Amino acid sequence: MGNPAQLRDTFGRLHDNLRVSVTDRCNIRCYYCMPEHEVQFVPREEILTFEEIERFVRLAVSLGIRKVRVTGGEPLVRRNLHLLIRKLAAIPGLTDLALTTNGVLLREQAEPLYEAGLRRINIHLDTLDRNRFLRITRRDDFDRVLEGIETCRRLGYDPIKLNAVAVKDLTEPDVVPLARFGREKNIEIRFIEFMPLDAQGLWLRDKVLLADDIVQTISSEVCPLIEIPDRDPRAPATEYRYADGGGTVGFIASISKPFCLNCNRIRLTADGKLRYCLFAIEETDVKGLLRGAATEEEIARIIAEVVAAKWEGHEVNTARFVAPPRPMYAIGG
Ligand code: SF4
Repeated sequence: MGNPAQLRDTFGRLHDNLRVSVTDRCNIRCYYCMPEHEVQFVPREEILTFEEIERFVRLAVSLGIRKVRVTGGEPLVRRNLHLLIRKLAAIPGLTDLALTTNGVLLREQAEPLYEAGLRRINIHLDTLDRNRFLRITRRDDFDRVLEGIETCRRLGYDPIKLNAVAVKDLTEPDVVPLARFGREKNIEIRFIEFMPLDAQGLWLRDKVLLADDIVQTISSEVCPLIEIPDRDPRAPATEYRYADGGGTVGFIASISKPFCLNCNRIRLTADGKLRYCLFAIEETDVKGLLRGAATEEEIARIIAEVVAAKWEGHEVNTARFVAPPRPMYAIGG
């Protein structure tokens, strides 16, 4: 297993980034993620407690994890989330703590989360058009998200990033307004290529709005974009800066430019399954270990084994591709 303080897979990739989903529940219904009705959620008693999550993260940090991103479903629907953030922010060796949210509950929760130690936040917003927001999310919470963003700006969150899922024939009209919004608010917009992770199998390759096409649109209609060289190759986003110094834009091009060869991420689901990849078919239960008599060494060994078993990368662009049995909301971004 090499240096015990390092989680390295058989491709030599060092894993220092853990995504922790704290719930599969959500207060909106993005059509490319979950059905509008009759969503199958995990029974509450199967969801890891804050203490179990904290114990797992401490262990993972002792093995070399340095960054944790808290996700969902929608993490802010988990009651008293700031208590977990405070626990995680206090773990020695955890140098980077971030959260991804749909922003609907941010107006109320941004301050307690900030006081608990959170500074980095990604807010998911695909459009600046209220009607399209309603069409995509099937909820009329557009204003709440904008208020949440303003609350985070006022409190001094840094960086604040907006994650926008880019879907052809739906969100193209939002590319330029979002780019302008980011320049105006000094917020980095991240365009995410549509991935085959929705619960209803709606994904189609020709619905993927490609990162390169978005770069061209912004460069011709807003300001030329220049790719930032030598960025951290393990970071999922390709970063560009505006030629006039007006900020940066990120692209997560999982379909057109997969970045698996530098992947440094593993994921813990809300119900305690450890996954070595967003698209993984297999997963390993750690809830039983956390709730049973397993020792720290045994859990640590399982974490290392999961990383050691990691595949080369997703197979979305191959004939072998099989969608994971879990949809996005039950994995966490
Ligand atoms: S698809 Fe899987 S292997 Fe590839 S970058 Fe994402 S998590 Fe890593």
